[in-house]
Amino acid sequence: MRIALALLATLLLALPARAADYAGPLVDAHSHLPSAGAIGAYAAAARRHHVSRVLLLGVGGVQKDDLAWIKAAAQKHPELVLPGLPLPDPTAEGAAARVDAELREGRYRAVGEVHLRQISRTIDRDPGHPAFGAVLDVVARHHVPLVIHYEVTGTSPDALGGALARHPGAVVVLAHAGGGTPERIEALLAQHPNLMVDLSGMHFQRTPSLATEKGPLDPRWKALIEKMPDRFLMGIDIWSPRLFEPAMLDRLMAWTRRVLGELTHAVAEQVAYRNAAKLYRIE
Ligand SMILES: [Zn+2]
Repeated sequence: MRIALALLATLLLALPARAADYAGPLVDAHSHLPSAGAIGAYAAAARRHHVSRVLLLGVGGVQKDDLAWIKAAAQKHPELVLPGLPLPDPTAEGAAARVDAELREGRYRAVGEVHLRQISRTIDRDPGHPAFGAVLDVVARHHVPLVIHYEVTGTSPDALGGALARHPGAVVVLAHAGGGTPERIEALLAQHPNLMVDLSGMHFQRTPSLATEKGPLDPRWKALIEKMPDRFLMGIDIWSPRLFEPAMLDRLMAWTRRVLGELTHAVAEQVAYRNAAKLYRIE
């Protein structure tokens, strides 16, 4: 028995110490609704995991009722929901004028999610398109960030970089870190002070991910986030009804706090809360 206990103690000491979960304030800076009623399950899970706010975004023209669902959710849970303004086609004529009119009300904390480049849906819009440039001018004037889905592969970062450079007053949030490598993202962030990155949709159900469900935070991402802690936001990016099941919401939110717990506390708090509070005007 003593030998067994000694063996157990040795084994436990040999295991790497697991960092404590991040327990500070947390904002989900990127999620979507799949139906009018889905916000109920989300709000219950947010209470269980102390997620204080969620930015709700459109899904780029896939769901025609996005705006109505987001508005209704914000009305029902004003303490939780930060409403985003959907923009299905950012290169459509009149897109900028529509965004301008909607933003005058002052209720929207972001515009998006705007799908500029999503290869799986064969969407590949030019960030240099004049209509999109007009949208960037409008969001700059209203001081409202634009959340974009833009996959950074091949030479596409150059096209995005050109638009960011031509519209320095517009704050653009690159969703899911653009599906890019930490090296590419670091180069973009270093060149463009008006770019932010949300780490949404990089959970264990998707690739590329920051970490598997139980595994460690990818050391390359960890190093980059700790190097540029004021440029990253945490988000979950749930959309499909399957992800709104309470058990799955629990797994995703627990994973989020576990992964944030691997960062130093000050960095985790910036990424989980302070950057979002500043960008999305959370009082
Ligand atoms: Zn999304």
